[in-house]
Amino acid sequence: MSERFETWGKTHRATPAAWAMPADEAEVADVVRRAAAAGQGVRVVGAGHSWSDCVVTDGVIVRLDRLDQLLQVDEQRGLATAQAGMRLRAFNAALHARGYAISIVGSIDQQSLGGLVATATHGSSLVHGNLSSFIVAMRIVTATGDVLVLDEGDPRLPAARVSLGALGVVTQLTLRVERAFQVAEVSTPVTFDAGVQALATMAGEHEWAKLWWLPHTDAALLVRARRSDGPATFSPRHRAIDERVVNAHVFKWLLALGSAVPALIPMLNRVVAAAYFTARTVVGRSDLVLSMAMPPVHRESEWAVPAEHAADVMRRLRAAIVAQGLRVNFIVEARYVKGDSNWMSPAYGRDTVQIGAYVGGSPDCDAYYAAIARIVAEHGGRPHWGKEAAFDAALIRRVLPMADAFAGLVREVDPDGVFRNPFVRRVIGE
Ligand SMILES: Cc1cc2nc3c(=O)[nH]c(=O)nc-3n(C[C@H](O)[C@H](O)[C@H](O)COP(=O)(O)OP(=O)(O)OC[C@H]3O[C@@H](n4cnc5c(N)ncnc54)[C@H](O)[C@@H]3O)c2cc1C
Repeated sequence: MSERFETWGKTHRATPAAWAMPADEAEVADVVRRAAAAGQGVRVVGAGHSWSDCVVTDGVIVRLDRLDQLLQVDEQRGLATAQAGMRLRAFNAALHARGYAISIVGSIDQQSLGGLVATATHGSSLVHGNLSSFIVAMRIVTATGDVLVLDEGDPRLPAARVSLGALGVVTQLTLRVERAFQVAEVSTPVTFDAGVQALATMAGEHEWAKLWWLPHTDAALLVRARRSDGPATFSPRHRAIDERVVNAHVFKWLLALGSAVPALIPMLNRVVAAAYFTARTVVGRSDLVLSMAMPPVHRESEWAVPAEHAADVMRRLRAAIVAQGLRVNFIVEARYVKGDSNWMSPAYGRDTVQIGAYVGGSPDCDAYYAAIARIVAEHGGRPHWGKEAAFDAALIRRVLPMADAFAGLVREVDPDGVFRNPFVRRVIGE
């Protein structure tokens, strides 16, 4: 019996026929050719940090943990080339050692590079796009075992940057990087109304900015960051305590309590807001300050809407929580992503705010997810591919103008559907 796969958020499981852990691109090609000849599907797993069923297969799961090296930093052109199985934390550290950094990171740094870009993982900025938008070249082992080499001159690159794993196994990525820099991140507690009002302006005033709101309270937090040469105050020790003690035990226990006795959730949220939504400034290495301590296991749904509609979505989500009596024990988060031209990017063609609706074991999770899906539908909401967002091919075609072209490319590159699992079929309509 093969080892079972389970997502980090415990949202999906699979028992593949086999696992493979190739050591180089030639071995990846060999694994793919053999699986295709045996009629088995292939999916890659990075860190398994997606909540969606994007990895799930009963065929072969390929783990790229042995393709984990930074290969080159081209200082002249500001480019870094790495193997796709490299984890973001290791990539950031290796870049820093060379005096370089990537301009944006998401909340955590434990994902693999290949997994991050396959789902358009983002941070929060209108100056920078999502991580996929930093790709200038990639190598992909396709269903025949051949290697597709794409660079900026290739018209397929805008499709491959957010590939959903549907074009093949990405083995190598070249990303735009810049000289290492520090940021000063300022957190400011505000009321819900003030926070939502700030959504219109704060991303124009700060290179990085995001909004948190804790349901059942009037407490919101503006988190805004700028470049800074000031003395560093970021403490790796505090980060480790947050990760290993506060989040792993205290926060986890609060979520479990709210899950067991949902009536306590509003009171627990008030306690969390009082303790955590406080004024503070942290200065330090960009990738460390802009990311966060690993949270306890929870669930996330997230939708991308045009930036100008973000305030409306936040207000209506709050109204829905009150009207439907939903108990929500985790923050709602609004984060910006600069518009891009990558076919399956949730930020395709428009500056975007991604609204994240998160829960930690609330019995109202399904109703909450349905509420946000209903609200964003009026604003052409696009799902985050790595999170739990209900969609079918008709919805995807309505909201992503290049969806048909992407489906066509997937069928052309992989006519026999080696890399198609139920998730990909739902996206392309099969
Ligand atoms: C605690 C937490 C915080 C998060 N914070 C953020 C955030 O701030 N912003 C955000 O946008 N997202 C965030 N996410 C979501 C996460 O970044 C994405 O789901 C990401 O895809 C996970 O990367 P992974 O390496 O675990 O990929 P997996 O989940 O393992 O895989 C994701 C997809 O990529 C495919 N894939 C992986 N590697 C390759 C490859 N080499 N070639 C081809 N296909 C491949 C897989 O088949 C799958 O379809 C967070 C997730 C967690 C658990």
